[in-house]
Amino acid sequence: MNAGPVNLMSDTQTLPSEAMRATMAAAEVGDEQKLADPTTIELQDRVAALLGHEAGLFLPSGTMCNLIGFRLHLRPGGDEAILAANSHPVGFEGGSPAAFNGAMLRQIDAPTGIFSGEDVVASLREPGNRYAPRSRMISVEQTTNMGGGRVWSQAAIDEVVGVAREHQMRAHLDGARLMNAAVAAEAEPALFAAGFDTAWIDFSKALGAPVGAVLVGSEALIHEAWRFKQMIGGAMRQSGILAAACLFALDHHVGRLAADHDHARRLAEALADTPGAAVDPATVETNIVIFEVEDPAVFIAAAEARGVLVGPAGAGRVRAVTHLDVDDVAMQRAIDVLAELAQG
Ligand SMILES: *Cc1c(COP(=O)(O)O)cnc(C)c1O
Repeated sequence: MNAGPVNLMSDTQTLPSEAMRATMAAAEVGDEQKLADPTTIELQDRVAALLGHEAGLFLPSGTMCNLIGFRLHLRPGGDEAILAANSHPVGFEGGSPAAFNGAMLRQIDAPTGIFSGEDVVASLREPGNRYAPRSRMISVEQTTNMGGGRVWSQAAIDEVVGVAREHQMRAHLDGARLMNAAVAAEAEPALFAAGFDTAWIDFSKALGAPVGAVLVGSEALIHEAWRFKQMIGGAMRQSGILAAACLFALDHHVGRLAADHDHARRLAEALADTPGAAVDPATVETNIVIFEVEDPAVFIAAAEARGVLVGPAGAGRVRAVTHLDVDDVAMQRAIDVLAELAQG
């Protein structure tokens, strides 16, 4: 690892370890879509329990969890989802809420990705108004990806979910990095997820598995979710090979997320001391560091030339994401290179 570049492009860049591969190879498998894959069933049950919901559904990706979650809540044709403007479904899912639901997206301008109950109220449409779309659901991202890996507090979640309930709206939790939030806040993931109708976690991000995500909800919603999984080709066969990697990640890769958060914080502190990069270390709560530079393309190319890979994050911004394939030594190398570039 130390010979190659330090890859901070994303926590999706992690490679399955030898031990994870051995677990995958030994997995007990069956036909998943006939409900006969024991390893997949074990994973679904385990994530449902972890997030405090009745049932779980193994899906190939987080994007499919959002697609199906939104499809469960939005009635096709003119319903509206309320969510942050910089959230994943708005920017990075190929327009899926529009394509699969004919939905409107009511976007809240919240740079950290965290919005308030008041924001939701301000975004509501007048009920019964035939001119307006129908406000139907809210979606919360924990942690906020383009918001810089910020953690919604329990109080902030309770507030927006409370407003959704008051107005007969559904609530969906995009928990791509929910386990990062739980570790950072030293909180139970089930408490974060409890108030939502649907929630999910991704295994191919910081948890370091090659593929997989699990969507949870009530028995009834997950039963209905199966229809959409089948419809869009998400039903699998011997998926226990993949589910085994996710179980391995739950067993071995959760507690260690604290090290990634420490690495991210150290990077932010080093950059904060330079004239060429702007970031407030106090805002770095998990494994994502978004910092401002004068010319991201130039900065990213210069970093790459010196063996550190980082990515763009919109106008004037660069994103670095720490993960389990970047150890202390590699991280120090990355910090030294990025801070030096930001010095001048
Ligand atoms: C990555 C990500 C997704 C999509 O997950 P994939 O497994 O890449 O499809 C959704 N939401 C957020 C916040 C993400 O970071």
